[in-house]
Amino acid sequence: MGGGVLETVTGGGLVWDNHSCMPLRPDDYAFLPQLGQCRAAGIDVVTLNVGFGVMTIKDHISMLATFRRWVTQHPETLMLIGTAADVVKAKREKRLGVCFDIEGMTALEGRIEMVSLYYDLGVRWMLGAYNVANEAAGGCLDPEDKGLTPFGRRVVAEMNRVGMVVCGTHTGYRTAREMIDLSSQPTIFSHSNPRGAWDHPRNIPDDLMKACAARGGVIGLCGIGLFMGRNDTSTETFVKHVDYALDLVGEDHVGIALDYVFDVEEMHAYFLANRAAFPPSLGFADGIRMIPPAQLPEIGEALATRYSSTTLAKLFGGNHLRIAQQVWR
Ligand SMILES: [Zn+2]
Repeated sequence: MGGGVLETVTGGGLVWDNHSCMPLRPDDYAFLPQLGQCRAAGIDVVTLNVGFGVMTIKDHISMLATFRRWVTQHPETLMLIGTAADVVKAKREKRLGVCFDIEGMTALEGRIEMVSLYYDLGVRWMLGAYNVANEAAGGCLDPEDKGLTPFGRRVVAEMNRVGMVVCGTHTGYRTAREMIDLSSQPTIFSHSNPRGAWDHPRNIPDDLMKACAARGGVIGLCGIGLFMGRNDTSTETFVKHVDYALDLVGEDHVGIALDYVFDVEEMHAYFLANRAAFPPSLGFADGIRMIPPAQLPEIGEALATRYSSTTLAKLFGGNHLRIAQQVWR
């Protein structure tokens, strides 16, 4: 097992985990050596989350400063990703490419000019609302999603302008639909699993997946047990979600975004402090299982019995690269 497996099953393709969660504690570098797990698994690029939901501009900028400092201090193994060409370079140089994402337009605090600043600091996708509504967008756990606000519509246009990818994960149905229709560029569901494969409100229905794909977008499948089954992180179950998504939208529109949280204690603290975004009734509690990067080679081997290396190269990273080439500045 190890990096060689994904290299083999993708025919030497790029492997990109488009959502990964290190602790959100500025100036705390204790967990960052664990990025080595990504490299050991055969991942070439990882998109690190720098904030979600209620966090402030200061919180997001502080995390960007922390992660950027760590990456630039480890040039032998890590590389900051700014362009699609950088992605190819990182893989060639066998360094782990790192870029960033933001979960929710609350990170803007109502200021449109923050979009380009975040982009300049390496943020390559941002989603509308983290489970509950904000001043820009509606959330997937709101009783009623009122869609994008006028500010939210301006944010989508600004993201298109600067090259940041518009993401519908965690947002409400109507908001996600409006994002897809309004965006002049392909949009993504960075880490959303098919509701047709497991019925959870964080998962997305077939018609949203199809609408995203019809505009050239990509749906990233995550490895959170609650969203795959009864807290089920088996390789067999993940393969079922891949099967469902590939069957529905085709091989050009599915990717990987594990959503692995490295510090589970921090995650549980967020659950307790933020019950509106993490209702215990939906399973957000101690003991949530997640697929770690180290499981990806096993998943790759299982998928290789069902799909060609061409399909798996797209699934494991090629589709994310296409979006970067098309949307990033
Ligand atoms: Zn998320």
